[in-house]
Amino acid sequence: MRLLIMGPPGAGKGTQAGLIAEHYDIPAISTGDIFRAMKTADTPLAHQVRAIMDSGGYVSDEVTNAIVLERLTEPDCENGFLLDGYPRTLDQVKTLDAALDTKGTRLDAVVSLQADVDEVVVRLLKRAQIEGRSDDNEDTVRIRLREYAEKTAPLLDVYRQQGILVEVDGLGPIDEVSKRLFDALDKAAPAPTA
Ligand code: AMP
Repeated sequence: MRLLIMGPPGAGKGTQAGLIAEHYDIPAISTGDIFRAMKTADTPLAHQVRAIMDSGGYVSDEVTNAIVLERLTEPDCENGFLLDGYPRTLDQVKTLDAALDTKGTRLDAVVSLQADVDEVVVRLLKRAQIEGRSDDNEDTVRIRLREYAEKTAPLLDVYRQQGILVEVDGLGPIDEVSKRLFDALDKAAPAPTA
């Protein structure tokens, strides 16, 4: 299964991504996690990534595409993957589609986790306190939500037109959301029988 999970920051993507990855036995690849891990390195690229993340903006398409496409060549992605937090721009959508096309594959489904903005702000600020994440404070949370609404939400239309968009309500307890999600995913892209 080749899947994407999309949704505003704070919609519970990371949690649901872990459950989906486990269910289909595929790696969950989060660009946010990759960039957070990079932030601690003492290299010019790491400094650049840290500054961008702390401002709430997006890392450049050039850097992001290169990192993701390289990650997708690793052996654990041979039977599928779940991308979380990528693609986030139209350029990234096109780059990913072209890369999959070159390999004769395509995405099976794109999960869109929907959440109310006010709910999401509360969740993000709570998580920032617990995890001490410097990229999540009141200002950057607002910028990140605006970035999502302006740059990323329109991508859902692209996948809707491709007929692979699966929209799921992300509000409620984790197990209820994941049940909704698997039901929708099973209908949209039944897992191949072994
Ligand atoms: P996330 O944890 O997915 O919300 O990502 C945290 C931060 O990492 C974002 O606010 C961006 O600065 C950066 N980032 C993650 N994924 C991408 C992407 N696909 N394109 C550009 N920047 C990204």
